[in-house]
Amino acid sequence: SSLPPRIAKQLARAAELNPRINCFTHLYSNSDVSLQLDRARAKGKGRLDEVTVGVKDMFATADDAPTSCASRMLKDYRSPFDATVVKRLREAGAVLVGKTNMDEFGMGSSTTNSIFGPTVNPSGPRRADGELESEEEQRVAGGSSGGSAAAVAAGLCDIALASDTGGSTRLPSSFCGIYGLKPSYGLLSRHGLVSYASSLDTVGVMGREVEGVWRAFDVMNAYDPKDPTSVPTHVRDRARKAHQPLVERLGKQEGREKPLEGLRVGVPADLFPSALLSSPTTLAPIRTYLSHLLTLGASLHPVRLPTTPLALSAYYVLASAEASSNLARFDGVRFGYRAEEGESGEKEGLYARTRTEGFGEEVRKRILLGTFALSAEAFDNYFLQAQRVRRLIQLDLDSLFRVPNPLHTSSSSPFSTSPSAPSASHRSEKGIDLLLHPTAFSTAPLLSSTSSASRSSREPYIQDLLSLPASLAGLPAVSVPAGRAEDGWPVGVTVVGQWGAEEGLGKVLGAVE
Ligand code: GLN
Repeated sequence: SSLPPRIAKQLARAAELNPRINCFTHLYSNSDVSLQLDRARAKGKGRLDEVTVGVKDMFATADDAPTSCASRMLKDYRSPFDATVVKRLREAGAVLVGKTNMDEFGMGSSTTNSIFGPTVNPSGPRRADGELESEEEQRVAGGSSGGSAAAVAAGLCDIALASDTGGSTRLPSSFCGIYGLKPSYGLLSRHGLVSYASSLDTVGVMGREVEGVWRAFDVMNAYDPKDPTSVPTHVRDRARKAHQPLVERLGKQEGREKPLEGLRVGVPADLFPSALLSSPTTLAPIRTYLSHLLTLGASLHPVRLPTTPLALSAYYVLASAEASSNLARFDGVRFGYRAEEGESGEKEGLYARTRTEGFGEEVRKRILLGTFALSAEAFDNYFLQAQRVRRLIQLDLDSLFRVPNPLHTSSSSPFSTSPSAPSASHRSEKGIDLLLHPTAFSTAPLLSSTSSASRSSREPYIQDLLSLPASLAGLPAVSVPAGRAEDGWPVGVTVVGQWGAEEGLGKVLGAVE
């Protein structure tokens, strides 16, 4: 059957713009999309009927598109099954329009570590005239889910699937001026999302409006027996109950003059870096957002997160360690790329040659780092130490919130001896409902700044710092478009909630939008 005009137009624009933005690694043909629509229609009415989706090329899709992870290793790999989240989107009526570009295996912050080449940020000041910047002025889309963010920002799909291990959904959303939700760890199934660092990996959702992002999240938010870290139903119920008071209150106040009356928002000085404080024009949209919250009835409270400076090193030890183990499966035998055999047909060194040729520079670096951190002589000093730091950061964040973490029932246990566990009454008086901080240090960096000369610098890693506390603690965090800096590029703020606080978060953001 023929495509609805809106979708046909989106597909045509995607085909026209993609050669310049490079946000898609694969675009589905018109006939493939109309086949998907027919299948969806045959299933009856769904909550996402005719919603177009871009899917990060790290999610398995059982169709014509490869699932490449932007790696030579998986360049032509085709999955025999759909990731659970893809399956749930399809069942609700959504159609896939493309797979999106990314940093190889999710490792990076700018979508420049990709065999497909970098994604160009389409959200600059010239977008209004439908133009892109000249080559020297082009900026990165952020990473690792930069293709998803750019596709959504350019209007080439309604929503996109991303992943977020240490900021990969939030950072590109901030740079491209859209909403990017990293849900609580364990809510959305990771089955079919190629693993990077399993204890941190989450499925992210991107969109131009709160409503679209939250509807897609709701559709995907269910226990999945195929993901061993998927949180079981009774814990989801417990979390819903814990967050009920705020959700009800916000519901009652909807449409009133002060819909956020009673909402306590924490503002952590530790997550407002000095680089940002000294750039008043980047800070301006964040200030405006804060004063908007006040106008709507919320109260702001200074809070501290003293463990923040430890997050970066702990994250890179843990993420690399898990990656070195997860990526061991790409051995040239079972999946994807295999190096040529030697001249005399010898197989010797096949494993090493396959991995040297199949993985890009950044991925090889992480595997080496992670293998070292897990080695006998480094394990105590690096891996275990990083786990301890992670625990400190979790406690640090947890102690701020009004609602105790629904995953840790022990905090209400009479046997709990943790000195940092605040008492119930202290929590309800002084605890905050949400935490708010900038998503990034600056607007999107120039694409040229990520090239060879700065390769060895720490710059790209430092950009992640603000995203890492929520990642290490498994908490939900959304990057929200707050406006534009003086340079004309988007600025994002991040709102973080207690574990399982998504429903309330959506209501708050909806009220501000
Ligand atoms: N930039 C971080 C990294 O390279 C985060 C990546 C992610 O969230 N997938 O590890």
